[in-house]
Amino acid sequence: MQNFPGVGVSPGRIIGTIRQMPKPISEPPAGEQLAAGTTPEEATAALKAAAGAVHDELKARADHATGDGKAVLEATALMAKDTMLIKGAAKLIARGSSPQRAIWESGSSVSEMLHNLGGYMAERATDVLDVRARIVAELRGVPAPGIPTSNEPFILVAEDLAPADTATLDPNKVLALVTAGGGPQSHTAIIARSLGLPAVVAAVGVDELPDGTEVYVDGAAGSITANPDDSLRAAAEAWAATASLLAEFSGTGSTADGHLVPLLANVGGAKDAQAAAKLGAQGVGLFRTEFCFLERDTEPTVEEQAAAYKGVFDAFPGKKVVLRTLDAGADKPLPFLTDSTEPNPALGVRGYRTDFTTPGVLDRQLEAIAKAEKESEADVWVMAPMISTAEEAARFATMCAEAGIKTPGVMVEVPSAALTADTILREVGFASLGTNDLTQYAMAADRQLGPLAGLNTPWQPAVLRLVGLTVEGSRAEGHNKPVGVCGEAAADPALAVVLTGLGVTTLSMTARSLAAVAAVLKTVTLAEAQELAKLALSAPSAVEARAWVREKLPVLEELGL
Ligand code: PEP
Ligand code: MG
Repeated sequence: MQNFPGVGVSPGRIIGTIRQMPKPISEPPAGEQLAAGTTPEEATAALKAAAGAVHDELKARADHATGDGKAVLEATALMAKDTMLIKGAAKLIARGSSPQRAIWESGSSVSEMLHNLGGYMAERATDVLDVRARIVAELRGVPAPGIPTSNEPFILVAEDLAPADTATLDPNKVLALVTAGGGPQSHTAIIARSLGLPAVVAAVGVDELPDGTEVYVDGAAGSITANPDDSLRAAAEAWAATASLLAEFSGTGSTADGHLVPLLANVGGAKDAQAAAKLGAQGVGLFRTEFCFLERDTEPTVEEQAAAYKGVFDAFPGKKVVLRTLDAGADKPLPFLTDSTEPNPALGVRGYRTDFTTPGVLDRQLEAIAKAEKESEADVWVMAPMISTAEEAARFATMCAEAGIKTPGVMVEVPSAALTADTILREVGFASLGTNDLTQYAMAADRQLGPLAGLNTPWQPAVLRLVGLTVEGSRAEGHNKPVGVCGEAAADPALAVVLTGLGVTTLSMTARSLAAVAAVLKTVTLAEAQELAKLALSAPSAVEARAWVREKLPVLEELGL
């Protein structure tokens, strides 16, 4: 047995064989020439054969896929045979270019042309780049980029995963996610929890294991073991038996003594919202609207946006839906809004700040939200991400009022907002703690970096103190404004107890975590949760805070959490 310690980000104990995510395809060197002794005719034939193979492979996958996935695969397969793409490359080969360089350059021109056409065509621009990378991989004889395909379920091992990878990740085939890089607040962690897959990040060295290696993954303990023994097999079987106990959420989050803590869902669109409603979510605590904008080269119209928002509102008639305005920038770049050349994007023009450099987009989004709200029955609250000062909060509240939005709020993600929550909450109706970003900014540790995973955990006493200060601020001056948590911290059942003890009023998480959080929360009284919060605040380190609290919650071990 060989052990790879990492950071557990989504619970579950499972055994399976691994498939490595292929490395991204590098650009063939500019000016690369035809190999000596190869004629342009031979090179063109090789290129056509590679393109044909890519087409056939994508088409075969489309035949086995359904719904959106099928349509995407069919469209991409067709692109591999696109005449303009192949003819463009053949011309370059005739002028002496290598086939890899030729298809690369031809792909760039076709993609740029589609991009300039706008609308539906512009959306196809990224498909061309995907096909181009696949053809180059075929010519090099290396695995195609993207999530590997397999007829058998497997454990996916990657350096890290990007939001776009989710589109092709089939949760029926992928048993667990393991990454060598990435931190606990990275996209891999968010994706794993939303799909209910066990996951471990920052497990250095796992990306060196050969495909087909059998491994044991413990997503709560944060460990990977290659070639597991019988005791680990038994642990995986025991987990499979308890997992079904955690499948159901009664629909009311509360402590043992009846202190209510509404458990809400984090969603990215209508489908997520419908699934969350089915899983018993008491509303939506974070609607990440950028998911409606991602992979768009132009701003969606007010009508398009309103339709997307209404889709979410309609899943929760009469219930609270907290929508977050666009959070572009840093790890979520948007071509029409953010500057990819910024030297320090996490500290740059992101979230609410994009309104400084590109005014109008936020106003139109608020207009679309107000329009969708009028046509639905949800209780809509709207918050801005990356608010740093009371002045920004006041300005956002004014913009909301002008658009006809009744309940404006802010996300507390920047330490300055936690420290001045009292003055900020004079201006708006509520706050929601984005603990993923609050942690990265409090600890000055990029949330995407594996080597900083130890710093980048919301169990850090410094982060918990900032949560405590935000709650204190919300109660200052006699006002009592709601403060929720919508970062990944809320999905950790032990941390959910601590946050409740610190006084947060709602917890919002991926819907798959609702049952586990509810099951643990109902084993403690509010007074006990407050004691555990004090214990965590007094710990000298994140590791000790977590260990001390977990020790007092035996239900975690019983449920394998
Ligand atoms: C957060 O920062 O905690 C949060 C909820 O926002 P996101 O993860 O989308 O940045
Ligand atoms: Mg955030």
